[in-house]
Amino acid sequence: MFTLPKLNYDYNALEPFIDAMTMEIHHSKHHQAYLTNLNTVLEKYPAIQELSSEEILKKLNTLEVTEDDRKKIKNHGGGFVNHSLFWEIMGPSKEIDEQLITDINTEFDSIEKFKTDFTQSAIGQFGSGWTWLVYDENNKLKLYSLPNQDSPLTIGHKPAICLDIWEHAYYLKYQNRRADYINNWWNVLKLI
Ligand code: MN
Repeated sequence: MFTLPKLNYDYNALEPFIDAMTMEIHHSKHHQAYLTNLNTVLEKYPAIQELSSEEILKKLNTLEVTEDDRKKIKNHGGGFVNHSLFWEIMGPSKEIDEQLITDINTEFDSIEKFKTDFTQSAIGQFGSGWTWLVYDENNKLKLYSLPNQDSPLTIGHKPAICLDIWEHAYYLKYQNRRADYINNWWNVLKLI
């Protein structure tokens, strides 16, 4: 059974860009709920419990489960894995990933151009979802947004950066101002 990963920082560590109450509810309630639901659906599939949560999403389309359960694993497994990465790439101080910076400069010409493109994709995502920077099957960087908790792992891509654009990620502080949330979020993304 999977367990909730601890944050490497306090709930108030990302202030003022992400407020402590949002972080606490997001981690201890939303992330916990995805985890609980994932563990519940996997109770009847002991063989799948042996896989890592990332492996489960990579193999989602070929898992020997009912179609109803496949949908639950997609939603709650995605929610569990996506949030685990999200906490990991944020922090109160920068921990620059030089290789990622180099790759972004190669693919997007500049960090600023990448940030503009990423922000546009996140603002333009209709409804709930995540914006992703991933390495594709040819190890080339790609940028896109996906709805709901859909994971790039399921289409063979390896996530590098992700941004949660569900309203629960920002509504307490930003209400309808998704663009303000996104623009401020760059301050707590520690990798670039
Ligand atoms: Mn979320």
